[in-house]
Amino acid sequence: KLSKRLAAVANMVDQNARIADIGSDHAYLPTNLVLNKKITFAVAGEVVEGPFQNAQHEIVNQQLTDRIKVRLADGLAAIKKEDNVDTVVIAGMGGLLISKILDEGNRFPNLILQPNTDEMAVRIWLQAHNYKIIKEDIVAEGQHTYEIIQAHTGKMMLNRQQLKFGPDLLKKRPEIWRQKWQHEIMRKKKVLKFLQKAKKQQERILETSQEINLIEEVLGC
Ligand code: SAM
Repeated sequence: KLSKRLAAVANMVDQNARIADIGSDHAYLPTNLVLNKKITFAVAGEVVEGPFQNAQHEIVNQQLTDRIKVRLADGLAAIKKEDNVDTVVIAGMGGLLISKILDEGNRFPNLILQPNTDEMAVRIWLQAHNYKIIKEDIVAEGQHTYEIIQAHTGKMMLNRQQLKFGPDLLKKRPEIWRQKWQHEIMRKKKVLKFLQKAKKQQERILETSQEINLIEEVLGC
């Protein structure tokens, strides 16, 4: 069974998509998608030997070697032309690493990205490279919240608010998203108090209070 986070990623995959899961580790995601008959072909890419072995063991154990190709490669280099991949999934990494991996490879029409951090950097990358966000989701697991972003080739013009909070999340305003940003307000208020006590770093004080205002404005509180 997939974790809540990976289940939300799996949920964004279209029926019969041909996916490449980059940084697949145990290859749980493509295995689950094939076993649930959502897809019939996947590439599981890994750049590190240990996780690559994990993926290979899982695919052999599940007898899926004809459907899932496990490859040891850096980023999108795991994908061959004849794979006819249409969907690239990159989950469980920092947003900057995700952007770097996308930067260094060919372009694919459909992306499903789950950055652990720096979601805004991912949205900025997508906008700058002719992708359009078509769907977003957010899930809570343990102490963390995770955002999942699906993008297609296309144009978008996001403003600062949309880049930071997610255009689709801003529209749908799910409870977990609201909680995430309320938590961020509390965290920033603590920082602000500390800065004010120290009576220095006027610039950071201003910056932090502006950020708090921006979030409060978006949440409508
Ligand atoms: N995608 C899985 C998930 O979401 O549960 C595994 C996430 S795991 C934390 C990140 C994986 O990405 C690691 O196994 C790491 O080896 C792999 N990775 C990091 N950089 C990579 C790159 N440039 N190309 C391929 N895999 C990479």
